[in-house]
Amino acid sequence: MPSLRRALHCAVVSLARPFASIKQPLLLGVPALLLAGFPLAAQNATPGPNSDPTYQALRNLTLGGEAVSVSNLDLKRDAATFHLRSGTICFTPPVQGKVTGAVFVGDGNFVITPPPAEMGMLKLLTKANEFSENFNHLVLRFTDSTYDEIKKAETPGAGGCDNGLFKDSQNAMRHGQVLKYNLDARILQDVLSPEPGRLFVAFVHGKRYNDKELFVVDPHGPGYLMHEEVGLMTYDENKFGVWAAFPLSGGRRSGAGGHIHIEHQVLDTTIEKNANLTGKATTTFEVRVKGSRVIPFTLFPTLRVQSVTADGQGLAFIQEEKHEDADFSVILPKPLAAGDKFTITTIYGGKEAVSDEGGGNYYPIARDDWYPNSAFGDRVSYDMTFHIPKGMKMAATGELVSEANDGGQNVTVWKSEVPQTVAGFNFGRFKVEEAKLTKPDLLVQSFANENPPSWVEGLQRMAGGDLPGSHIQAGAALGTMSTTGLIKKALAEGELATEVYTDYFGPSSFKRLAITQQTDCRYGQSWPELVWIPMCYFFDTTVRHQLGMDFGDRGYWKVVTPHEVAHQWWGHTVGFDSYRDQWMSEGFAEMSASIYLSFIEKSQQKFITFWNDERELLLERNAEGFRAIDAGPVTMGYRMSNSRTGFELTRRLIYPKGAYILHMIRMMMHDNRTGDQRFKEMMQDFVKTYAGKSATTEEFKAMVEKHMTREMDMEGNQKMDWFFNEYVYGTQLPSYKLDSSFDTGTDGDVVLNIKVTQSNVKDDFHMLMPIYLELADGSMFFLGRARLTGNKSIEQKVPLKGIKARPRRAVLNYYDDVLASPN
Ligand SMILES: [Zn+2]
Repeated sequence: MPSLRRALHCAVVSLARPFASIKQPLLLGVPALLLAGFPLAAQNATPGPNSDPTYQALRNLTLGGEAVSVSNLDLKRDAATFHLRSGTICFTPPVQGKVTGAVFVGDGNFVITPPPAEMGMLKLLTKANEFSENFNHLVLRFTDSTYDEIKKAETPGAGGCDNGLFKDSQNAMRHGQVLKYNLDARILQDVLSPEPGRLFVAFVHGKRYNDKELFVVDPHGPGYLMHEEVGLMTYDENKFGVWAAFPLSGGRRSGAGGHIHIEHQVLDTTIEKNANLTGKATTTFEVRVKGSRVIPFTLFPTLRVQSVTADGQGLAFIQEEKHEDADFSVILPKPLAAGDKFTITTIYGGKEAVSDEGGGNYYPIARDDWYPNSAFGDRVSYDMTFHIPKGMKMAATGELVSEANDGGQNVTVWKSEVPQTVAGFNFGRFKVEEAKLTKPDLLVQSFANENPPSWVEGLQRMAGGDLPGSHIQAGAALGTMSTTGLIKKALAEGELATEVYTDYFGPSSFKRLAITQQTDCRYGQSWPELVWIPMCYFFDTTVRHQLGMDFGDRGYWKVVTPHEVAHQWWGHTVGFDSYRDQWMSEGFAEMSASIYLSFIEKSQQKFITFWNDERELLLERNAEGFRAIDAGPVTMGYRMSNSRTGFELTRRLIYPKGAYILHMIRMMMHDNRTGDQRFKEMMQDFVKTYAGKSATTEEFKAMVEKHMTREMDMEGNQKMDWFFNEYVYGTQLPSYKLDSSFDTGTDGDVVLNIKVTQSNVKDDFHMLMPIYLELADGSMFFLGRARLTGNKSIEQKVPLKGIKARPRRAVLNYYDDVLASPN
């Protein structure tokens, strides 16, 4: 499902980009002259797209003449049981001897019992304690033993089935907005493999919940299921979402991260003045699935593949029309064993992957699939060459090897310094300023366009009067829209953030950082050594308001640059293992920005306001009536967002709550004598241990346990289970109350009488609640932490040795040390 793509860092409107990104079709196929720069000799012999005869047979499949009758047949598939009480099953004819489709018509029921951790979301969506669905028809696609099982159980006297049902399932996959997944190419993987297939897909026309339910078992972990192996979802365009997704009951698939691992990419890319992109990718990959002949890649659908070759020989490939299930797959000459390596060269091109925004501004729409890619997070080494129009400047991931002007083109060569999670670029009529840091040894560059894009220019032209039919006062917006003037601000933010984070987390994997601006104001993004900052970040809040770009000037929108720079550590030096761990990438980036804030501000006010904003984001009800804090644990990640809960819910959860989780750990590790020393040691250990790899939530927990204080050991087992169960895997939100007074003790010392009450929690809820004193001079003093368990109060008299003047007051949770209810 495009909206749930995990690669989309920092998207403000998670749905907007994938659906809006493909503009109206302008051309079909790639004009040959645009490919003139590439050798064409081998292409004459290469097969066209979708021409493989076995693929064609699967693509054009309809029900055949074979039908059987069934009664009380149970099909068990992992956590699901399909009970076919009575009815008829019709099959598709075999392809390469394998039957891969069936339609059931009759009376049936479908029950799913997911792992306990999945029950919360399922209950929220079904409002029931179990998922049980009835149906009168069902379409099955499979490469497993389904055909044999049904044949074994058949009873005499079969009726017929409607091929229209089968056709509907094909249409849903090929044309529907939600799926757009080439299931035929997926089935072909198994049909052309010598290994037994294990795919099972059921289109359930449910009577109770939705008539477009999809239950899937796929050991390859398809993208539309967040790369999980088993899942239940709805594909109704007005009501869609993943209801449950989890690993096969036999355990996790081996080699998580996809069908293949790409080792090396050589990418030669030309972008014309009109934004047309043509590319030649030489891709060396290692196969992870035994018996693979059909290899799937991600490639932006409007980039049309011209040819695929290996050793000069043309290979068959699959890529359907760009508005349909355009997934790109390559068919190898023979099946490979797991661990085998292979190199292919792909020639491709098309228009809508990059958008010409006017004034020398270009917006790269395709961010992780402008070349044939495996999956975001697969660590690949890159050699890249870009040809762009003269006068333009390129900023790309990796180290700049050379730059030349050649025949009306600007030609740059780039090489990855370490294997990267992804490769990308930004270019335009850029001005550049740079600064060389020594601690760490790193080059920071700031790129901004000399001219505004058309949409800003349009506003400027209307200066002097109100825009018709809107509340935008263009005159007021002028003057603050110059972005080159702010090139220094971006550079300074990049420098300072890099220095602060290096001090806290140790060095990142990179030696360079390019901060660039993008015209799309809905989000920012960070790739290795390359950051895109929405140009509206540089407009002031009044202007953003006038432009109708109120994303809420809270949280992320106050700290876009420091947040995106922090992803150089969180996401790219240390990767996240799956969508379940993505809260660490976004949350840690957001929390890092709070450290940045505390360093640039002399007062603590911005820091405190920041955490206040983050808490508000978590506790506000969205349009659908949900508070992010209640909807589910951070480990549900982008799966939390669906038609029921609202599509911005995950953003409201994993950013602020992920940030709070790390902030709480920092504050628990803090002490008056050594400050953040222990926290820094833990984070530096974490970065060092997982640099160039991906970390899971449990691996981070183990790192916290390695560095925890004795005080943090609330359960006396050197584990942080209590904290992770409460805040990472749980959804509790405690409330606190403080009663306090001051006395003078017999020896003349000030004595604090204190009563701290914890409420609205489960009985085993533990917390360390910090107590601060506001001293007579107005400064804040950290006194210590109250150990609380369950809904209880603790009372204590604390002699304040050495404090001469009576403090003004005692305060709990002054720095939002603990995520708690504000009242
Ligand atoms: Zn982010």
